[in-house]
Amino acid sequence: KAIESNKAREQVYFRQATLDELTGCKNRRAFESDIASLMDNHQPFTLALVDIDNFKSINDTWGHLCGDIVLRNVARKGIKIMQPVGVTSYRFGGEEFAIIFSGDHQCSADILLERWRIQVAQRTWREEGLQVTFSAGVADWGMEMLEQLIMKVDEALYTAKKLGKNRIQRVG
Ligand code: GH3
Ligand code: MG
Ligand code: MG
Repeated sequence: KAIESNKAREQVYFRQATLDELTGCKNRRAFESDIASLMDNHQPFTLALVDIDNFKSINDTWGHLCGDIVLRNVARKGIKIMQPVGVTSYRFGGEEFAIIFSGDHQCSADILLERWRIQVAQRTWREEGLQVTFSAGVADWGMEMLEQLIMKVDEALYTAKKLGKNRIQRVG
């Protein structure tokens, strides 16, 4: 019995160590570890980096608490789309998410991301005048190092922002 409760406690600790509390996504540490394991095993995958548009001005206009609610809602929508098909969402940084589409999910990456983008953009918020969108960069892993891959995806994200935001930009 003691062993069992130790095991249960261990599972709770593990969850806490790998989850982001605010969004319910897995955290950055889990991202680093999951992506390293795919790379070590030469498992193909597609990486997306998602960044909420004009988030600073959302905070400035409606307050940090509202910003947190937006962050959580955007994340929940993503999780609702990704989780049932077995795709994992991570909180990559402040208002940024990373999505890893491994193996069989690679070919659905664009469709799933686009579904998420549209759902977020079409949502109406209680705050008058509030509108939330995100931009994303996407790339297939080409066996490069993680740092290079992230740079590649980040460049695509930057292009999406430059082209007017609220869009998904693929590398290549
Ligand atoms: P862009 O459209 O180019 O992405 O502009 P942006 O305003 O979204 O980007 P910027 O990097 O200038 O601002 C991000 C802001 O996100 C700044 C930071 O204060 C805020 N932020 C980071 N983490 C959190 C959080 O957990 N909660 C809230 N409310 N704000 C956060
Ligand atoms: Mg950002
Ligand atoms: Mg942003």
